[in-house]
Amino acid sequence: MAQSSIPLTQNYAQQLDAADELAKYREEFYLLPSIYMDGNSLGLLSRRAEKSLLDVLQSWKELGIDGWTTGEHPWFFLSEKLGEMSAALVGAEPEEVIVTGSTTVNLHQLAATFYQPKGKRTKIIATELDFPTDIYALQSQIKLHGLDAEEQLIRIASRDGRLIEEEDIIAAMTEEVALVILPTVFYRSGQLLDIERLTKAAHEKGIVIGFDGCHSVGAIPHEFSKWGVDFAYWCNYKYVNGGPGCVGSLYVNRKHFGRVPGLTGWFSSKKDKQFAMEHTLDVCETAGAYQLGTPHMLSVAPLIGSLTMFQEVPIEKLREKSLKLTRYLMDLIEVELAGMGFSIANPQEDERRGGHVSLEHAEAVRICKALKESGIIPDFRAPNIIRLAPVAFYNTYTDVWECVQVLKAIMQEKRYEKFENKRGVVA
Ligand SMILES: *Cc1c(COP(=O)(O)O)cnc(C)c1O
Repeated sequence: MAQSSIPLTQNYAQQLDAADELAKYREEFYLLPSIYMDGNSLGLLSRRAEKSLLDVLQSWKELGIDGWTTGEHPWFFLSEKLGEMSAALVGAEPEEVIVTGSTTVNLHQLAATFYQPKGKRTKIIATELDFPTDIYALQSQIKLHGLDAEEQLIRIASRDGRLIEEEDIIAAMTEEVALVILPTVFYRSGQLLDIERLTKAAHEKGIVIGFDGCHSVGAIPHEFSKWGVDFAYWCNYKYVNGGPGCVGSLYVNRKHFGRVPGLTGWFSSKKDKQFAMEHTLDVCETAGAYQLGTPHMLSVAPLIGSLTMFQEVPIEKLREKSLKLTRYLMDLIEVELAGMGFSIANPQEDERRGGHVSLEHAEAVRICKALKESGIIPDFRAPNIIRLAPVAFYNTYTDVWECVQVLKAIMQEKRYEKFENKRGVVA
């Protein structure tokens, strides 16, 4: 491991916090008694998100049906408005993003639209390190075309079990491939793919390409429009802090506007035609076309408040702080936890890593339990990964420092040994 020369004192962490221009945003969140390092699974509640949820409840209470078109946040137009508000997070035009569905549902919708097996071109490229729901959804989309999922779904292998090489993905882009769907950031290793390079390579081969942005949106800047990405989808409950089960988002490049989505419903309609109630769909010519039915107002409402914070703080600033927090965390781990059996599984280069640090240890399950007991909330991913995500909006350098001190004490005192080597139901 590389030797780092950063000061190891708490005082140094406090100095970094004192110089942090985003520090004031921490007070906007409901912090837990424990140090929260799990914002990559579920972001914390902000006061603004709480307020916007209560505002929407209030409009239901006071307006009833009229809440659809009147009040502070008319519900009928909210999915489009939130799409506009989040466009800057992914480098899209306002009409290219819509807040709707969930990650899994949106993937089904986009695959139903953009997976068009024809002649020899029938295969889909994914990877063996993908989040399971993405694989299950693609397998069922292939089956719906009457094809064999085993044959048609190419899962790019990892050379080392941690990372996927872009060259391996590009090498698999043959004339048999109809669609490529990849994560922006891998949920386990935190590896960030080169989205621009992969998009260019896919298009050179005449292949449509889309991305799962769950682990990057809200943490990392994107340039989906500039790079020509065909489509993307993500959840809003991780780095976007929209709350448990918050409605997700999707992006469709404007070159595809006007196309009829694979799955349609009455919310796919042009908005001014929707209530004409005709049986001929006049499809909306924006990403809004990819909606299905009535939006889930109470599950989208916290996003109104949360996105106002992202409008105040450019995503580049959040990325800058996130990179500093995670670099500090890695530097401390290398020195303080040396010789204790840990290894850092995410890439070292800033342009190849996402918002979390992926720490491997043979005793990861038990160490995570000991961390929780000691006032740190980490995240475990089977079989051996401790994910630590210090989030720019609400974590401090002191949080990072304390986390490493606690880890060190747990290892020195073997405090993890009293826990059972078995993962929890949600882990
Ligand atoms: C969190 C996550 C999901 C979750 O999908 P839901 O439909 O919201 O349950 C899917 N894919 C990736 C890569 C994720 O990180």
